[in-house]
Amino acid sequence: MRIAMVSEHASPLAAIGGVDAGGQNVHVAALAAALGRRGHEVVVYTRRDDPALAPRVPFAPGVEVVHVTAGPERGVPKDDLLPWIPALGAGIAEDWATHGVPDVVHGHFWMSGLACLEAAKTVRPRLLRPAVLQTFHALGSVKRRHLGTEDTSPPERVWLEPAVVRRVDRIVATCPDEVTELAALGADPARVSVAPCGVDLDLFDDGTASERTPGRRRIGVVGRLVRRKGVDLVIAALAKLRDEGIDDVELHIVGGPSGSNALADDPEARRLEDVARELGLLDRVVFRGQIPQAQMPAMLRSCTAVVCAPWYEPFGIVPLEAMACAVPVIVAAVGGLQDSVRDSVTGIHVPPQDPDAIASALRRLLEDPAECARMGAAGRRRVEAGYSWDHVAELTEDAYLLALTERKGMRKGISYPSDVLPAVGGMTP
Ligand code: UDP
Repeated sequence: MRIAMVSEHASPLAAIGGVDAGGQNVHVAALAAALGRRGHEVVVYTRRDDPALAPRVPFAPGVEVVHVTAGPERGVPKDDLLPWIPALGAGIAEDWATHGVPDVVHGHFWMSGLACLEAAKTVRPRLLRPAVLQTFHALGSVKRRHLGTEDTSPPERVWLEPAVVRRVDRIVATCPDEVTELAALGADPARVSVAPCGVDLDLFDDGTASERTPGRRRIGVVGRLVRRKGVDLVIAALAKLRDEGIDDVELHIVGGPSGSNALADDPEARRLEDVARELGLLDRVVFRGQIPQAQMPAMLRSCTAVVCAPWYEPFGIVPLEAMACAVPVIVAAVGGLQDSVRDSVTGIHVPPQDPDAIASALRRLLEDPAECARMGAAGRRRVEAGYSWDHVAELTEDAYLLALTERKGMRKGISYPSDVLPAVGGMTP
């Protein structure tokens, strides 16, 4: 199959850990590579954010990344990208005109979905249009519910995202919770497939290489440094443990900008540092900044437990990575975390925004190494059984084939969003 993927802000080639570079980058990179291994030809389109980038970059066997010029050739926060999406769609269509139209185009994040629809509608005759599939990674409706006025998404997301939901041929959701959210936005459940995120089981394994701090046990938090990831809740839980007499534990916070200067300037890192200072924990909270994926397994293995305490989480790849390294995970029971981590089997579920519950779960694990080992082994078995990228690619391929079959069955009924996209196009600054 010839597969196009569109990931407007999240390039597979980007360094991971900054505010806008996290799970989606990892997902698109690993899924594209796994589809390439299955013999498909994959092109990943992303926005050029640096004039020095080559137009086409070979990424993995069968996979290349194409940089499309759309807006300034520098980093732009993803919430400011909407005005450039029509140009992205046009650039993709131009590439198809030269290199051929793919069988399917799969958008990642809502704005990529718009670019996919925009590019697809240029293909004539209609019968040659690719099937359009969409993975949202995060939904504006959920983000708004949790962040309220702090949500920096463009206001147009309120109506454009549901338009993508309705217009694409098929949605690939990552977990059952997302299917429910999509239904609330008007998705027909019959047009939704589910394929979870995956984990690189060769990189993340239960091997022995591990960082250690002599005389201290370690708990870890990994992710983009954004407030909704709830890192302050874990610092508060650490304070509770210290107050209860468990004082040999340090918290490593991984993520944020790379380099100590950039980290010192990062507003969320500074806020978290203030929280640690107020709680008298500065000597036990270690800000690691961004670390490359290659170093992540040794970091994860050094932890007695990894904590993911977000306010909400569409899926969450970090718990899979920890489980793959045979480390138990404490997760807030939200979004995809409710399914990926099995409570009391591969980790512990806690209610969202509850530092006391995080502290109790940590105490349970810190006091019972045998339980940690049991949960770690169960976690490794769980990800091996259901979360390899090869398995995720197979499920995604099923969704592509289904979309193509459905497409053939309804040749006369194909419709594209001629009413929606001109409104976006009209926003060009
Ligand atoms: N990550 C990384 N280096 C960092 C911080 C994070 O490589 O310094 C990776 C992490 O290993 C995981 C991804 O970024 O693969 C975060 O994905 P997740 O789905 O947990 O969170 P998201 O970024 O999607 O909110």
